[in-house]
Amino acid sequence: MSTSNAILKVKDLKKHFPKKEGIFNRTKNYVRAVDGVSFEINEEETFSLVGESGCGKSTTGRSILRLHEPTSGEILYSGKNILDYTKRDFRKVRKDLQMIFQDPYSSLNPRMTVKNLLLEPLLTHNICSKKEATERIIDIADKVGLSKEQINRHPHEFSGGQRQRIGIARALILKPKIVILDEAVSALDVSIQAQILNLLIDLQKDLKLTYVFISHDLNVVKHVSDRVGVMYLGQMMEMASTASLYSNPLHPYTKSLLSAIPSIDPTDKRERIILQGDVPDPSNPPSGCPFRLRCPNAYDHCAIEKPIYREVESNHWVACHLYN
Ligand code: SF4
Repeated sequence: MSTSNAILKVKDLKKHFPKKEGIFNRTKNYVRAVDGVSFEINEEETFSLVGESGCGKSTTGRSILRLHEPTSGEILYSGKNILDYTKRDFRKVRKDLQMIFQDPYSSLNPRMTVKNLLLEPLLTHNICSKKEATERIIDIADKVGLSKEQINRHPHEFSGGQRQRIGIARALILKPKIVILDEAVSALDVSIQAQILNLLIDLQKDLKLTYVFISHDLNVVKHVSDRVGVMYLGQMMEMASTASLYSNPLHPYTKSLLSAIPSIDPTDKRERIILQGDVPDPSNPPSGCPFRLRCPNAYDHCAIEKPIYREVESNHWVACHLYN
């Protein structure tokens, strides 16, 4: 997994949420939302996290920004473990790590103009003069496709796609190095989705950004990613380059996800693999392989021993006994 120019290294990250039960509301168990995830991201690449709802991909993204304080593990940014930082020290690097959410509207104060929404993070981090702030606001608004006139309006005066442009501008105004995009285009119409994706790709090249792209949409992920990690029940099942993962998926879970992508090619004779049952309760995961209760290839040993996540081909990692 080790790569030479990694800007971010996540090592054995865990986020367990206490599960309170009974009349005394005592912690009886833990929801293992993220349960030992490791990956590295190279500068200026797009690394995507995919999986069904509840697989832990969003919690992983939020844990990197300490929006959820991780239970254990390491997050190395520029070689330093940011989980060792005090809240005050973390604020200094937080401007380098930004997030774009699915619904920007909920994070935009409806009473503030776009200009003031963009000014707010600059004032909070106290990083430039008022004159420079104004220049920065006009510059980033222009980069995301908002005019000088539009920045004097309020969020409710914009369409969904334009609001996402405001969300992108707000994330980029601090000149971050890494941007975590959590289902950033999932709520948009398909034609608007394409516009925003193309904008994100252009901004990445222009501003030398590194993206962590979190999505359940495997068509979109194929379009934007350099590498992809597939999560299930808070753990990484497979990780590879986009080309390798889509042309040669190894893990039975990845195969089932890819088989479900709709195709417009009439000659495409792929067989759809329909998974039985639901994702198990993350506070009571199965023994052995986390995927075994739904895996069409499961055999006796899968219930006894957890498969080791290992590199089975160059830069292609998988956690499955079939490849041991
Ligand atoms: Fe399926 Fe067993 Fe592989 Fe798990 S280890 S994915 S249950 S074959």
